[in-house]
Amino acid sequence: MKKKVCLLGSTGSMGVQSLEVIDELSDLLEVEVLACYSNADLLIRQAKKFKPNAVVIIKEDLYQQVKDALWDDDIKVFAGESSLCDIVEMSSIDIVLSCIVGVAGLKPVYRAICCGKPIALANKETLVVAGELMTQAAVEHHVPLLPVDSEHSAIFQCLAGEWNNPVEKIIITASGGPFRGKNADFLKSVTKEQALKHPNWSMGNKITIDSATLMNKGLEVIEAKWLFDATLDQIEVVVHPQSIIHSMVQFADGSVKAQLGLPSMKLPIQYALTYPQRESNKMPRLNFADYPSLTFEKPDTQTFRCLDIAYRASREGGNRPCVMNAANEVAVALFLQDKIGFNDIPDIIESQLAEIPFARPKSIEEYLEIDQEVRRRLQGSVIRGQGLERD
Ligand code: MN
Repeated sequence: MKKKVCLLGSTGSMGVQSLEVIDELSDLLEVEVLACYSNADLLIRQAKKFKPNAVVIIKEDLYQQVKDALWDDDIKVFAGESSLCDIVEMSSIDIVLSCIVGVAGLKPVYRAICCGKPIALANKETLVVAGELMTQAAVEHHVPLLPVDSEHSAIFQCLAGEWNNPVEKIIITASGGPFRGKNADFLKSVTKEQALKHPNWSMGNKITIDSATLMNKGLEVIEAKWLFDATLDQIEVVVHPQSIIHSMVQFADGSVKAQLGLPSMKLPIQYALTYPQRESNKMPRLNFADYPSLTFEKPDTQTFRCLDIAYRASREGGNRPCVMNAANEVAVALFLQDKIGFNDIPDIIESQLAEIPFARPKSIEEYLEIDQEVRRRLQGSVIRGQGLERD
């Protein structure tokens, strides 16, 4: 019996790589559902190749185009956000792989957890924004949350067979991004083209900017806290520019286990989909002679303020990580539109954290309301010169 995958966010960078993995392991895995936001052309091509039972296009005005293109392929076509939430409950689905970018991934993943579907999680926001609700529901419904983020996959792999052994520390590695070693003055005038040149990883634009600001590592610290039930004091970030060690776990006896490999998202995707099995594949192998020196340094949190902002937001809890995440998304979008400078990103996040009062959301809907409020506030701002000020 093949494992039937529901792939949410199939047309993004992670979704496309996930389909490559499924294609290479086609005697073990098959696509049951494909869902994307608006890239109808790619969704149609993917559907014709992988022959899922159903597809969902979230942007409803594209429904007819997709429906027409797939009319003789015997594939059900649905549209809209509520269809996305309904479809994860389909009884034929064995695992839901969420590659959706942003908070749009919250509702469908929560629904999938609540109906007992195992989750392979590539969407960071799910745990950053609503980690408490998600992990509670996962425990309640006995649902495994399998990490797809490379660092968390590494930690998960280090923990395999160690479930009863106390963990002292989780050590998350960071490449440091394209501006490692630069100072705040240099960062003032960097362009999006410079920021998008990641030294090791090929990823979507938003996460590549997050990687340059170190916010990506901040989001990953929060993700790790929920996934592995760790305290923030147990989670340490170390800069490792070669990105060969994907993360580490230090146990109570002082022993440190690390997971290594070439920087590719395909291995974490495969491990989440085939867990607990390891399947052979044709991915390139790590050759140690190509990496004569693996180096480590402390992150520069004075220059790259986003990492400390994330620790602080997570420590305070409640709506803080949600506010931070939404403000960061807006700020990154503005930076990508050349409307603000690189150093304005942490300023915008801090301003929203200062202005929006602390609260403890009780439902996914309440989290999404806060997310919307941050976006509304920032849209009401005007951009003057390099800075973003309130109207
Ligand atoms: Mn990562």
